Amino acid sequence: MGYTAPAWPEPEPLDPLTAPLPRYGTCSLADLLPAVVAGQGVSGPSTSMELTPADRACVFLIDGLGWELLRAHPDEAPFLTSLLDTSCNGTGRPLTAGFPSTTATSLASVGTGLPPGAHGLPGYTCEDPSSGALMNQLRWQPWTDPYAWQPYPTVFQLADAAGVHTCQVSAPHFAQTPLTKIALSGGTFHGRLSGEERMDLAAAQLAAGDRSLVYTYYAEVDGNGHRYGVDSDAWRGQLMYVDRLAQRLAEQLPPRSALYITADHGMIDIPFDPESRIDFDEDWELRAGVRLLGGEGRARHVYAHPGAAGDVLAVWREVVGEQMWVASRDEAIAAGWFGPHIDDRVRGRIGDVVAAAHADMVIIASEREPGESKMVGMHGSMTPVEQLVPLLEVRT
Ligand SMILES: [Zn+2]
Repeated sequence: MGYTAPAWPEPEPLDPLTAPLPRYGTCSLADLLPAVVAGQGVSGPSTSMELTPADRACVFLIDGLGWELLRAHPDEAPFLTSLLDTSCNGTGRPLTAGFPSTTATSLASVGTGLPPGAHGLPGYTCEDPSSGALMNQLRWQPWTDPYAWQPYPTVFQLADAAGVHTCQVSAPHFAQTPLTKIALSGGTFHGRLSGEERMDLAAAQLAAGDRSLVYTYYAEVDGNGHRYGVDSDAWRGQLMYVDRLAQRLAEQLPPRSALYITADHGMIDIPFDPESRIDFDEDWELRAGVRLLGGEGRARHVYAHPGAAGDVLAVWREVVGEQMWVASRDEAIAAGWFGPHIDDRVRGRIGDVVAAAHADMVIIASEREPGESKMVGMHGSMTPVEQLVPLLEVRT
């Protein structure tokens, strides 16, 4: 008699509709500046976020400082975590970054006050449908007309035009980048190398107007997280440093000010084993029918050859559907991953298939993305550790 194996339940792919959506319109990064300038009498993109009005407002964005990471490190960040305790006043709360939770997308959301489906930077890399090239949204390679790519005014430009003293204080090499032009310009850009100089100048600029809007930025919490992981002395040292920077700025605030400390995404360390790091360049199944691989390890845009989108979707669901939310372009758009509305010019930038990691894993690409594939800490998807960012507030 033959042996019949007992029926084993078929593993079910994750339903993309169960992915936790960014809270666009109420509690996302894109809502922050519109809510801030509303308190200064400037009308920007609509939001239902409400903040106590302040004549002088400063946004300090700490790249990579997720809400959950911050809450887990009170010893390294005594000042920042002390601001979590004021939640009864509606401050010290989490925002959602937006999808994908990556720097180019989030900085564009902050600066324009719009979700990714409107500003049109839908990932670390995405296809430019007019050329068929994969475009890096941080480095702006290959070059594309920035103002055609993102045509909306920034909230900084709206504030500046309304007579608010407006400026950005960041690293000098960001002064002329396309991302700065289309997301973080309006008023005056001040380049300063050291974190201390940035904090001191941000406070001085805040005092320079009766109404003022100042943006400042620090990158290396994210940089060290990518290189060494968030469970490293290097990352914890950066957190201690940025905690002192934030306190330095808070202590110099002029009267009638609000300082908002936030971030563009969190981060998760990914183990170095083949199950946690599936290599697209070594996986013929995932590559079949694929023309371009965009996005990053935890948030992939997959562009199919003509006619192959259905097959690519089926195979990706089959191969990684238990670890990632795998959606067709139409499903991801209808689910609201990129915001409540997608501009026509943005639709084709989104992959035929979009895959967002739920498990602690990534789709690396060891040949086409050798540097990124070696990173320890990663981000991009919709899990709380990468999606939630702090909104901390200090008032004078
Ligand atoms: Zn990063």
